[in-house]
Amino acid sequence: MNVFDTLIIGAGPCGIRTAIVLKEAGLNVAIIEGSSPGGKINIAPRVDNYPGFKKIPGPDLAVEFFSWLNEAKVEMIADVVTSLTKENDIFVVECETAKYYAKTVMVASGTKERKLGLPKEEKLFGHGLTYCAMCDGHFFKGKDVLMIGGGNTALKEAIYMATLAHHVYLIHRRNEFRGSNYLVKELRELPNTTVLTPYIPIELIGEDCLEGVKIQNVETKEEQVLVVQGVFPLVGQIPNSQFIKIPGVTNEWGTIPVDNKTKQTSVEGLYAGGDILPRDIRQIYLSEVDGKAAARAIIEYLNK
Ligand code: NAP
Repeated sequence: MNVFDTLIIGAGPCGIRTAIVLKEAGLNVAIIEGSSPGGKINIAPRVDNYPGFKKIPGPDLAVEFFSWLNEAKVEMIADVVTSLTKENDIFVVECETAKYYAKTVMVASGTKERKLGLPKEEKLFGHGLTYCAMCDGHFFKGKDVLMIGGGNTALKEAIYMATLAHHVYLIHRRNEFRGSNYLVKELRELPNTTVLTPYIPIELIGEDCLEGVKIQNVETKEEQVLVVQGVFPLVGQIPNSQFIKIPGVTNEWGTIPVDNKTKQTSVEGLYAGGDILPRDIRQIYLSEVDGKAAARAIIEYLNK
């Protein structure tokens, strides 16, 4: 039975940084990733202020990360993890097509998009409703679209969509934005955008494809229909931690509390980092710092 020193779940910035440090230290390590290496960066229209790149399209940065992994000769396993358990001090990582074993595990599996929870959301997905401007934005060239959310993701994707769409509406449920002020300013100054607050979506209109969205002012309860061909719900993230079957690792929100210094979870030999941690600010560099800290702790733990 091949037992890895460390298996890393997720090839985003945290998983990649962990893998590179452990590989350089000579450990027997692999990354399991069910999608493209780079994680959420792959769907980011633009990453700002990443050291070395003032502004870079997300997929281009993901390619840089991937080539970094290749150069370091880190083993990549393309599979989806379905269960993580611990038996007799060895972690068992079950995937859709195989089972793997490791002395330590790093969970860097990130998050997935939060849904609006409106009727027809599932039905209209792919028919005017999408969660990713970078992936699907080109379908809406010259059309009118609505972005929903007040975080950095919604703001950046709205700015990106303004380069493609005829008109971009953005609604947010509060008058204050969670995202950066400079992005709000940049968006407001574009000629083909309208920012509406405090508004929530209350109905998706259309049967076979999206024809509009009914929105409601949170304060006045006034309702109006925005005639749009595309809607992008960008209202936050849900942690990808359902596969963890070891009790006490995740909290009530599905995020993973860790020791601040070592990134070890409540279970010895099990570490976590990146967007899966309970924190308000999610940034590439923070994920990398988690990866570096965990890797250092893993090396110490395995040397004991
Ligand atoms: P976020 O910051 O959590 O923002 C989610 C937004 O959706 C919030 O404005 C929230 O409103 C709103 N919302 C939540 N549930 C809603 C609902 N049911 N209906 C309507 N609106 C709802 O998420 P994010 O924008 O995806 O960003 C995640 C993290 O990544 C953040 O820390 C962000 O700074 C970071 N990020 C960084 C960059 C970068 O380039 N540096 C780019 C993108 C994202 P409330 O504000 O009222 O809660």
